[in-house]
Amino acid sequence: MGEVARICSDLIRFDTTNPGSGERPAAEYVAALLSEAGIEPVVFESARHRTSVVARIPGDSPQALLVHGHLDVVPAQAADWRVHPFSGEVSGGCVWGRGAVDMKGTLSMTLALVRDWARRGVRPTRDVVLAFLADEEASGEYGARYAVREHRELFDGCTEAIGESGGYSVQAGDARIYPVAVGERGTAWMRLTATGVAGHGSHPPVDNAVAELCHALSRLAAHRWPVRLTPGVAALIESLEEILGERIDRDRLEEEAGRLGRAGALFRAQIRNSANPTMLQAGYKVNVVPGTATGHVDGRFLPGYREEFLQTVDRLLGPKVTREFVNIEDAPSAPMDAPFFERLRAALVAEDPAARPVPYVMSGGTDAKSFAGLGINGYGFAPLLLTPDLDYFGMFHGVDERVPVEGLEFGVRVLDRLLTAG
Ligand SMILES: [Zn+2]
Repeated sequence: MGEVARICSDLIRFDTTNPGSGERPAAEYVAALLSEAGIEPVVFESARHRTSVVARIPGDSPQALLVHGHLDVVPAQAADWRVHPFSGEVSGGCVWGRGAVDMKGTLSMTLALVRDWARRGVRPTRDVVLAFLADEEASGEYGARYAVREHRELFDGCTEAIGESGGYSVQAGDARIYPVAVGERGTAWMRLTATGVAGHGSHPPVDNAVAELCHALSRLAAHRWPVRLTPGVAALIESLEEILGERIDRDRLEEEAGRLGRAGALFRAQIRNSANPTMLQAGYKVNVVPGTATGHVDGRFLPGYREEFLQTVDRLLGPKVTREFVNIEDAPSAPMDAPFFERLRAALVAEDPAARPVPYVMSGGTDAKSFAGLGINGYGFAPLLLTPDLDYFGMFHGVDERVPVEGLEFGVRVLDRLLTAG
């Protein structure tokens, strides 16, 4: 299994920045590694060089498990990094580079594992469908969404999926917590338009679209969204109380999240909806009042709170501003009381007896949303043992992203247990 670090390093050296020149060379590399192991990959492109790879490994049961990950990465400014972000350098026991954590490290674990199976003649317990997808760091339109829409048959029989953002270790005091994602907040990216009366900038204001939009965005930004304790977060808080041996005050969750540091970061953004204005466009000349003004808002809503979120947004925007969705995706949640969730926990504990797996909900979104549309229960489970000095959330899309080689090897063993244990 010593292959995992080499594959991770190789994958990092393909610059798959999104937006950028596409995932094709990385996808071809993945397809070649699978072919070498006797696994027949299906390679497809949603657009030029927007390439994804899917492969099925037959198991003892046709009820399939989907293991999905993305080939693209977010941009990196080389000047800010200690090593070049696309060097894939291995030093100090870590593989360095953009994507080490998010999520080429995970892809390399899967690849190393299935290649090892091929060498040892191991067959998984159930069919395993591997998906290496383009475009997760944007909307997934050129990756998961396209795959689900155009190649649905590749996912036949999949009842559960594992993907990114979960199963990594978070050191909180003496405890090693492994959050396993059971849901995500939903996405509501919106374009707002205010329409008014165009005219000369020197005239008394009549119906100024720029001002209307600013008022509406200001109301939205200032809104204090109420705390809503959803089942996934409630279960997390209960688990944290048990692990940390202290009470967490449900009436002061925001303060408690701050007090609890890394453990608190697991629920800080998951206790309310949010709506952040992110872009503004209006006008073309200082002495001309434009007839319209537009703005964009990144909205996120908790599982079960889509309607409440949209009604509140509409009330805050008022009658003079209209909204349309740039992207709307529901908030998926997968059962916590399922035997499969227990298997995820068991695989972690088997490799790290000190592991304390807990359920949690992601604040953002992943490709799991697209697969939820096929009725597949998605869990965030990309097992990784981090050293206590490494902060997962700090490295995610951050500078000096790196992953310990031993942590990757740990992940391979956890996945092996999950996919082959009786
Ligand atoms: Zn990711």
